[in-house]
Amino acid sequence: MKRKEKILEILKEKQEITAKELSNIFNVSEMTIYREIKELEKAGLIKRKHGAILLNTEKEKEVVKVPNCPICEKPITRAHPYKITVENQTIETCCEHCGLMMHKQLEDKEVTALTYDFITENPISALNAYYVVGSSAIPCCSPSVIPFASKEDAEKFKKGFGGEVMTFIEAYNEIVNKMHINMKSCCSNEPVVFTIKDLKEKHS
Ligand SMILES: [Zn+2]
Ligand SMILES: [Zn+2]
Repeated sequence: MKRKEKILEILKEKQEITAKELSNIFNVSEMTIYREIKELEKAGLIKRKHGAILLNTEKEKEVVKVPNCPICEKPITRAHPYKITVENQTIETCCEHCGLMMHKQLEDKEVTALTYDFITENPISALNAYYVVGSSAIPCCSPSVIPFASKEDAEKFKKGFGGEVMTFIEAYNEIVNKMHINMKSCCSNEPVVFTIKDLKEKHS
């Protein structure tokens, strides 16, 4: 381990330390320690306070915690997740599939919803978008629901990847009915139980 890494390890244990103590531990001059301390400080890893050296914990706090989808609990990683606004609160879901499932939970509430064209990433009111449902392209949950601003673009996509072009309410009915029968199968991380024998029989 390099000395700089060791200094960080020591700080994790001890919370704070002085350059003099470090120079004793490593048996090097305080000047050498100061040089390394300066580099660590520049990198934002440590800070100095009243002559003591401390870990820079603010740096750790900056790490953005990825919120999870309220429907399937997957982390939301897309730049533009599906957004539903209800009573001044915005709920984000991992994808349009889970967005439609969320609409089911908010059935009698007044909502607005925003989606983003799959190709251009331009925002569209979810109600006005066209969706390719159940294509072979599955960027997130299955059956996938992929939004487009224009019907022509959705049809073009369908030509390449299959599925059906649907309006908002058609897509909603399709997903909610399918998932009602087969709840959580879309995004469950649980292992699927199978035997090779069964699979072979199904494919023969
Ligand atoms: Zn989800
Ligand atoms: Zn999803």
